[in-house]
Amino acid sequence: MNEEMETGMTRTVYLNGDYLPEEEAKVSIFDRAFLMADGVYEVTSVLGGKLIDFDGHAARLERSLKELDMEMPMPVDALLEIHRELVRLNALDEGMIYLQVTRGAPGDRDFVFPDPETTPQTVVLFTQSKPGLADNPAAKRGIRVISIPDIRWGRRDIKTVQLLYPSMGKMAAKKAGCDDAWLVEDGLVTEGTSNNAYIVKGGRIITRNLSSDILHGITRAAVLRFAREAQMEIEERPFTIEEAQGADEAFITSASTFVMPVVEVDGAKLGDGTPGPVATRLREIYLEEVKKAAV
Ligand code: PMP
Repeated sequence: MNEEMETGMTRTVYLNGDYLPEEEAKVSIFDRAFLMADGVYEVTSVLGGKLIDFDGHAARLERSLKELDMEMPMPVDALLEIHRELVRLNALDEGMIYLQVTRGAPGDRDFVFPDPETTPQTVVLFTQSKPGLADNPAAKRGIRVISIPDIRWGRRDIKTVQLLYPSMGKMAAKKAGCDDAWLVEDGLVTEGTSNNAYIVKGGRIITRNLSSDILHGITRAAVLRFAREAQMEIEERPFTIEEAQGADEAFITSASTFVMPVVEVDGAKLGDGTPGPVATRLREIYLEEVKKAAV
């Protein structure tokens, strides 16, 4: 149960210029995100009422939109103001803010993109309260992952709202009694269903190199920067499930899990089956540094 439900407070969301109670925020059935998954999104976490790595998320939003021939709905500082206003209106302390921009709702269903002059984008932001996000007990036990084939489309670097396969992957993991799934293509791990994947061997951090095969995680960029600053060795290259199973430790990163240790891959325990020192240390460094820079 989230905080709003517990307190009976109605969540306030943002829709196309208005702040509304969630029940009153309505989007057309002709919206292209509904009909064609024609939209992109971002997730920014909030700790202590402040936004974590907002600039990184705004920059990726602009890039995702550009790759789909869409414009930024407004300048970055206006987006920041909406994020802050939603934090204030919902008294959000810890949680996430979701931002979705779609190609809007033209009069008829049509594969051809509508003219942006006559079909305005749909812009939605909403909060999700997650007390204990930073103090997540899963970070102390570590999570268990399974592997599944990566059958997503070829532009995973664009953060689109096509989340059906990641959702199916989470369900497959749940069915197997695990926490998440790592996606494998041509024998190599691409990333997690909603996170980037890493292994650690002999003190070296190994994670897939950036390309259109994976989402360019904002958390990934920050974590690798902090790891380099801490003189840790990094290798950006693909790895196999077998290599992961023989690794000393593993972890994932995302805006909502930060750095989360992985202790089991397809049934094989890593090390002693508890979170490793590199993942644990990186989680501490990451949280400490991003909190200092939060806006
Ligand atoms: N890969 C995928 C497929 C994701 O969905 C996400 C999270 N949205 C990530 C990686 C991690 O990105 P970030 O660190 O920006 O949350």
